[in-house]
Amino acid sequence: MSHAKVDPAAIRVQHVFHHFAATPVLNDVCLEVPKGTIMALLGPSGCGKSTLLKLLAGLLHPDAGQLFFGEQKVVDGRFSLPPEKRDLGMVFQDYALWPHMTVAQNVAFPLHMRGVRVSERQRRTLEALDRVGLADFGPRRPSELSGGQQQRVALARAIVAEPQILLFDEPLSNLDRNLRESLCEEMAVLLRQLGTTAVYVTHDPHEAEALAHGIARMEGGAIKRIDWLDISRVSPFVA
Ligand code: ADP
Ligand code: MG
Repeated sequence: MSHAKVDPAAIRVQHVFHHFAATPVLNDVCLEVPKGTIMALLGPSGCGKSTLLKLLAGLLHPDAGQLFFGEQKVVDGRFSLPPEKRDLGMVFQDYALWPHMTVAQNVAFPLHMRGVRVSERQRRTLEALDRVGLADFGPRRPSELSGGQQQRVALARAIVAEPQILLFDEPLSNLDRNLRESLCEEMAVLLRQLGTTAVYVTHDPHEAEALAHGIARMEGGAIKRIDWLDISRVSPFVA
């Protein structure tokens, strides 16, 4: 009998540094996110959360450090896998929908980029909109939707191509409290159904606890501690 093989972490950040002008922002960040887990990245405003997320997405390149997605090398020295080749979806605080496109066109965009043919694109777009409770909203424009609905569209766009990794940057912080709580709960359910590995940035401890398997606490540009809330989910990886 061979030993069970333990998968490498879905996301592995190793000794990452980054600065803007003279200001060091990320200072030796190390983080491993096991496959299928939702890792909240919790910390005060300005501690470097969005910067770290942008590095994962390929929107920034670090001064030093390595990044791996599973066994795939993503960042190492001057090497950087281009953003469009990183198999991930992202949800931003301000939704970032394209105003001139319909809801369906917004959601279909990642499939368009991947060269998925039209009939398949339509089917998967509808399926993603259905998952976020907006099956009938395809023909509308983003401006005709409430903030909560727009964020659902952004979520549908992030999941439509079934990426390995989902990144969230304070997706609920523009919404009022009731909406925040209900959408947070729905996202927790949806993310568990999908089983996608996710990094979820927030400055709200309640949101982190409601949604994540683990909470990575960030302070002064580094991750100080990780607390696991749902140890069973990740037990093979935690000593
Ligand atoms: P967080 O998301 O945790 O609030 P950020 O990662 O956005 O923090 O920012 C971390 C620090 O880097 C802040 O001090 C911020 O002002 C600075 N910063 C972020 N982006 C830039 C940029 N493009 N140019 C210069 N400074 C930046
Ligand atoms: Mg931020």
